[in-house]
Amino acid sequence: MKKRLVRAAFLDRDGTINKLVYYPDHGFVDSPFVPSQVKLLPGAAQALKILKKKGFLLVIISNQPGVAKGNMTKKAFAAIDRKFDSLLVSRGAKVDAKYYCPHHPRARLAAFRKKCSCRKPAPGLIFSAAKELCIDLKRSYMVGDGVVDIQAGQKAGCKTVFIGHFKPELWKYFGKGRKPDIVAKNLLGAARKIR
Ligand SMILES: [Zn+2]
Repeated sequence: MKKRLVRAAFLDRDGTINKLVYYPDHGFVDSPFVPSQVKLLPGAAQALKILKKKGFLLVIISNQPGVAKGNMTKKAFAAIDRKFDSLLVSRGAKVDAKYYCPHHPRARLAAFRKKCSCRKPAPGLIFSAAKELCIDLKRSYMVGDGVVDIQAGQKAGCKTVFIGHFKPELWKYFGKGRKPDIVAKNLLGAARKIR
């Protein structure tokens, strides 16, 4: 008998569920490097609960080259991951699975230095999740605040949701001029629009 496939909301992590962190010494925003920097974005936990109620499996799909770049230890990465979970749990939400790409093409640590097929915009993480969790890609959504999230979702054959202010000049980065299927100002807005 054919196994029934589930729908998933594939979710970027930093900038979509939790806040990006501004590093004034470097002049850029990046992922949290220590657990105390992990802070949920307003409405994010509620958004996850709405998506769950709509029947979606919640799967994090995230590039996390922080260890590879020497920004944090593996231990710190794991602690950040636990802090993320505990913040969600304290608001009655949780994700079902997490898929992280630890690689970077110019990683300081040789073990993670490669051009992999899992770093977004490549769709590798989404394909792995789909295979392992029996997900119907065509009926699933990739949700994120970056161009790479939309590109990865389109390559995987998913519907896509862009979080933030969508600028028309971004269109050229998407397959055959395809726009994201949904644009929302935050994850809560996205969760309400996703059917
Ligand atoms: Zn990778």
